[in-house]
Amino acid sequence: MLPPSSPQPSSHQPSSHQPSTHLDTLAVHAGMAGVTASGSHVPVIDLSSTNPLASVQSGGDSYENLATGGTPGPGDSAVYQRLWQPGVARFETALSALEGSEGTVAFATGMAALTAVLIATVTAGRPHIVALRPIYGGTDHVLATGLLGTTVTWTDAAGVAAAIRPDTGLVILETPANPTLELTDIGAVVRAAGPVPVLVDNTFATPVLQRPLESGASLVLHSATKYLGGHGDAMGGTVSGSDEWMVRLRQVRALTGGLLHPLNAYLLHRGLRTLPLRVRAQQASAADIAERLVGHPALVRVLYPGLPGQDPQGLIGRQIAGGGALLALDVVGGFDGAVRFTEGCRLIEHAVSLGGVDSLVQHPASLTHRPVEAGKRPGAGIVRLSIGLEHVDDLMFDILGALDRVLESQPAATAEFATAGS
Ligand SMILES: *Cc1c(COP(=O)(O)O)cnc(C)c1O
Repeated sequence: MLPPSSPQPSSHQPSSHQPSTHLDTLAVHAGMAGVTASGSHVPVIDLSSTNPLASVQSGGDSYENLATGGTPGPGDSAVYQRLWQPGVARFETALSALEGSEGTVAFATGMAALTAVLIATVTAGRPHIVALRPIYGGTDHVLATGLLGTTVTWTDAAGVAAAIRPDTGLVILETPANPTLELTDIGAVVRAAGPVPVLVDNTFATPVLQRPLESGASLVLHSATKYLGGHGDAMGGTVSGSDEWMVRLRQVRALTGGLLHPLNAYLLHRGLRTLPLRVRAQQASAADIAERLVGHPALVRVLYPGLPGQDPQGLIGRQIAGGGALLALDVVGGFDGAVRFTEGCRLIEHAVSLGGVDSLVQHPASLTHRPVEAGKRPGAGIVRLSIGLEHVDDLMFDILGALDRVLESQPAATAEFATAGS
């Protein structure tokens, strides 16, 4: 099912933590329970590293509950920030409402979130991971090194069933994929995985465009650093899924300490309030730019799932509500062309990361996907653009200027290119 955008009704069941079933309303109000009653308009930021205990007995009981993945009951002490934190819990509640999950556990970064899932998987006795390439470079790196005691089989959607073994604990995929933006049919992978849980990295799509749990995935991961926060000023990571998984992940967080800081939890929760507006506006600009760039003489190809022919399985409209707000350009001249383009952007900043209000460009083969084994890395001519909230004509002007720099080094290519609206 598609995520509900107003005014469509939601497909997921309303529950007490969901004051409304419309995503836009949930984004503004979820996780705010009790704020008004406390006399505030927004949540109060609690920076306590430790919390008072009412008695030796109740303090000890609370400690044991929280250190084994429980949550505090009414009136219970939070004991110690590493065990539980009220502002982090608010952000988790809000994201659960958007993803339609029983729960969410938030971490210091997206990689800390992935680490917690892998630790929980290894300690459950199933250390083999089936991972679909291409995927975020950091995820590729941690799996390829086996740092956390996992083994990995790399495959694609068609190879999942054959890759599953008795000791397979998790299937990991990302759609749209990093950095090629290819789409994967989540439901098909879930069916191929059988009883093995499937984790979808939903960082690129966000729950505004895609809700993997509704396609049968068990876990949804976010680098909250990207769209959820949306302003490039707070790091965080999340995993959403069943209560049973959340208990295990809270326990891993309590024991290993990869916790989200309360200030960042506040910023990320605030970011959620504008998430639907930002993502839809950024997606509209990305789709516009992708269309306008098709056929440019400095480009081998524009990679954007919303372009004709780039969604052969028809997943747009069925699994994801659009092509997203990232696009990749395969620049003529390979590595040299990509360097000229990247360094030729003026308004669009050359920096890693994505999903913020400002547009960014980066060269995946040199940067985010550098750790990926040779031959599996993205093409040398590919640059990735994260489209922000600037006016689309200003972004086009910047991109066309950078493409001119590419053409200057390619005398054979013709500079004739009519741009609509400029
Ligand atoms: C950035 C990113 C991550 C890692 O998140 P951090 O917050 O940087 O640790 C994971 N997956 C995707 C798709 C990302 O873009």
